[in-house]
Amino acid sequence: MDAFRTLFQRDPTVAAEAPGRVNLIGEHTDYNGGFVLPTVIPQRCRVLLAPRTDKLVRAASGNMDAAFLLYRLGEERPRCSWLDYVQGVTSVLRANAHHLCGFDVRVESNVPLGSGLSSSAALDVALLRALREAFRLSLNDLELALLGQQVENRFVGAQVGVMDPMAASLGEPGMALFIDTRTLGYEHVPLPPGADLVVINSGIAHQHSAGDYNTRRAECERACALLGVRQLRDLTVADLPRLATLPTPLDRRARHVVTENSRVGEAVEAIRTGDLNRLGALFYASHESQRDDYAVSIPEIDLLVELSRQTGRAYGARLTGGGFGGSIVALTHAGTAREVAERIATSYEQQTGQQPTILVPQVGA
Ligand code: ADP
Ligand code: MG
Repeated sequence: MDAFRTLFQRDPTVAAEAPGRVNLIGEHTDYNGGFVLPTVIPQRCRVLLAPRTDKLVRAASGNMDAAFLLYRLGEERPRCSWLDYVQGVTSVLRANAHHLCGFDVRVESNVPLGSGLSSSAALDVALLRALREAFRLSLNDLELALLGQQVENRFVGAQVGVMDPMAASLGEPGMALFIDTRTLGYEHVPLPPGADLVVINSGIAHQHSAGDYNTRRAECERACALLGVRQLRDLTVADLPRLATLPTPLDRRARHVVTENSRVGEAVEAIRTGDLNRLGALFYASHESQRDDYAVSIPEIDLLVELSRQTGRAYGARLTGGGFGGSIVALTHAGTAREVAERIATSYEQQTGQQPTILVPQVGA
């Protein structure tokens, strides 16, 4: 509030926020029309906003240096800066026939930026929420999420799927969000008490991860062409013998996607019945499938998963996100998250010399 006042010499009239997310299970299934199961994390992006009567947008971020940046509505053009998310939001709203005036806005986020917890979707969704309220836009939460995806796909140039904006817009604390990425059907599944969420970043970001990601997508498309199906989503574990006839490595790639889709369904069942051991076993199985069949893990991530297992306090752990580096997500016995995360991080650092970051639970929280 004070920072907004100091910057813009006026009070904000609208406040909105949206959380970051982590995917519990369902990796590399989204672009195959399959299932994902994210949950929100405690960190959030907060937005304060006041409408203007002209076409000017003045935008500031507590996470960035400059006091504020400006542009006029209708003159949005990508500039490879964080302002692209704001410009993307106003440009996409206009393209979808939503009427806006200018505004002053300040955002501030404690979702770590660029760490795979989807700070960008938190920003898109928080800003869209603030604008929905300020200009009485007629948008439900799913429509709002899809606009957030358009911001990233069409303006920023990031080929993200629907999971990130849907998790930011529809996710709720203490709930997993089951999403069918083909139909956009979704369901909230209350997480059972008795488990804590841990997310640890390996400190490694693969330089060619975008290229490797595209290779995996192309492999899935080739597998579909050879099998005569539209998407790998159209296959189930009953089709595994057919997948085995594909040339390698397409056989293993397809097997990951098909078994992973099945694991998401099983994970939802395990959550519903409060079977944390089963849920944890699915995490480990998902990790092994990503490592052995989809080949998107790296030794450091495998080590983080193994160290989680060795604590004896984890139900399960797995690589989360696109892979080739990044983070693991683990479920630990309730009340042990911080201690277990610190133990894993210390051993990891000793063994690899890499600097891990504990992203959840939040340091200092
Ligand atoms: P992730 O979404 O995994 O955090 P991305 O690369 O998709 O990683 O998005 C990070 C980018 O989003 C940042 O580099 C910045 O441009 C923008 N961003 C996210 N949150 C903020 C914020 N609070 N203030 C300014 N820019 C932000
Ligand atoms: Mg992002």
